[in-house]
Amino acid sequence: MIQTLQTVAEYREDLIYPALCRSFEDLNIGSDLRAGMKVVIKPNLVMAKSPVFSATTHPAVIQSVIRWIRERGVTDITVAESSGGLYTAEHMNRVYRTCGMNVLEPDAHLNRDFTSRTVSCPSGFANRSFNLITPVLQADYIINICKLKTHAMTGYSGGIKNLFGTVPGLEKPQLHYRWPDIDDFSRMLLEIAQIVNPQLTVIDAIEAMEGNGPTGGTTRPMHLLLAARDFYTQDYFAAKLMGLDPMEISMIRQSVEQGLARPGEIVLRGDPLPENPAPFQLPDTKSLNFADNIPPFLQRPFLFFASKLLKSYPQLKKDVCIGCGKCAESCPAHVIRIEKGKAKFRKKGCISCFCCQEMCPAKAISVRKAL
Ligand code: SF4
Ligand code: SF4
Repeated sequence: MIQTLQTVAEYREDLIYPALCRSFEDLNIGSDLRAGMKVVIKPNLVMAKSPVFSATTHPAVIQSVIRWIRERGVTDITVAESSGGLYTAEHMNRVYRTCGMNVLEPDAHLNRDFTSRTVSCPSGFANRSFNLITPVLQADYIINICKLKTHAMTGYSGGIKNLFGTVPGLEKPQLHYRWPDIDDFSRMLLEIAQIVNPQLTVIDAIEAMEGNGPTGGTTRPMHLLLAARDFYTQDYFAAKLMGLDPMEISMIRQSVEQGLARPGEIVLRGDPLPENPAPFQLPDTKSLNFADNIPPFLQRPFLFFASKLLKSYPQLKKDVCIGCGKCAESCPAHVIRIEKGKAKFRKKGCISCFCCQEMCPAKAISVRKAL
């Protein structure tokens, strides 16, 4: 498995484009492409947020990928994403505009086909089918361009997690509700990933996000661009770069157990690894860890029971809430109401998915432990 790593100081095309050229050459991506093929780029546009906040894939990275593809004779290029919230023209146009995607036109289409289709899953999957956005299902070639982030629910967000954005609009919270347990939810993410199966995954880690990701964290400059064909193993690699234990991230652990990720086979190409980077700050949902003082053989059972006892819940910062209702719209358990211009949370029924925190534009939701 070839993993490429390039150092890129900042979001400038004259730095990003040559770095991508070196990576794509190492991965021999040019041999995949032919004129007339339909290429879909799947960025991370989790919400309508300016790229300066590091929650979304930076347009400069996507722009350089598009330039590289076009130089190989491919002109049918669509940028397709289903952000949090509604999957409608009005909502997605706002997301495109705020996330800086409009600069990509006319070299690529910003997807405006808001239909979806149901795809059957192979036998052995826990899900029988998924409803996915149409352009992804019509593509000859999919390029996944994600953002490297910590994540309140899954702990980590990279290539696998980015593909959850192929589920249209408010069907995402429904899947959270169907699979509230982190291991079940992560298995579902892996099933979606195997169906979408992008041929190439680029991780934008020039400015990553740490802390309360995927939308409310802080920028963590890493100055790195990663690319690989094998996005499962790349997620293992990227989580290690962040100072996380990949085997503590359920979706990565399960991908190793299922043989999708093969960390023992990583062959690094490009620039050397950064020297001793400080570990990423964790989200508040993951940062309490009493297991450090416990003998190693007891840590896994302890963490299993502690995770039940120390379950996290959202807590409103009332003075910051602007009453926009985005949290209520995205809550799969329907336990949020807007009363007198402020969100009101009911703990009973909450599945601790943190979709509300993810969608809050005002950073008005923090995390509290049950005990
Ligand atoms: S908590 Fe956030 S998302 Fe919910 S109403 Fe308040 S500002 Fe909007
Ligand atoms: S209140 Fe927030 S964390 Fe609880 S179920 Fe609703 S969206 Fe998920």
